Amino acid sequence: MKLLEDRIVKDGSVLSDTVLKVDSFLTHQVDTGLMKEIGKVFSEAYKDAGITKIVTIEASGIAPALYTAETMQVPMIFAKKAKNITMTEGILSADVYSFTKQTTSQVSIASKFLSEDDVVLIVDDILANGQAAKGLISIIEQAGAKVAGVGIVIEKSFQDGRQFLEKEGVRVTSLARLQSLENGQITFMEADA
Ligand code: 5GP
Repeated sequence: MKLLEDRIVKDGSVLSDTVLKVDSFLTHQVDTGLMKEIGKVFSEAYKDAGITKIVTIEASGIAPALYTAETMQVPMIFAKKAKNITMTEGILSADVYSFTKQTTSQVSIASKFLSEDDVVLIVDDILANGQAAKGLISIIEQAGAKVAGVGIVIEKSFQDGRQFLEKEGVRVTSLARLQSLENGQITFMEADA
């Protein structure tokens, strides 16, 4: 997605050989116009997949997931990182190791929001080692629902996430694929859409 790649070059900052900061349009401040375009591209890519729900994980996945759900006219569910006292009914959970926080946390979705009739598109902001996607897939499968694919805004292709997901037979659609962040330089490889 050319618009996204241009934005990464303009506003992304390389913090190290493995970490990209995109807090001015994706992970902290959100560019709604860009998210809307991202939503359209994911919708187009999965228009024939029979998607009934979009699933993401709080917090930075919510913006692209919401615009995708809006375009596809389906609900968006975000997995919660901390259980709160209002989550009283059946809960589906998985452990997720966070690349940026370097801690493991349990993420949960109320079981009433997913059923075996659902076909789910997972949407997330950044793909590193695939731990967040792995946890979400586990939750969706616990519900008996089907995962149609994983839509990623920015994939760090030099890490293992995509390889892991494809080995599991999961379709991955990344709108920008970073080949390298070495020496402060952002290089791209061909994206999926
Ligand atoms: P994974 O679960 O694929 O290992 O890591 C993905 C999650 O970690 C993303 O949802 C994102 O929140 C965070 N993350 C991983 N790498 C980066 C990065 O380079 N920059 C930022 N801002 N977040 C990252």
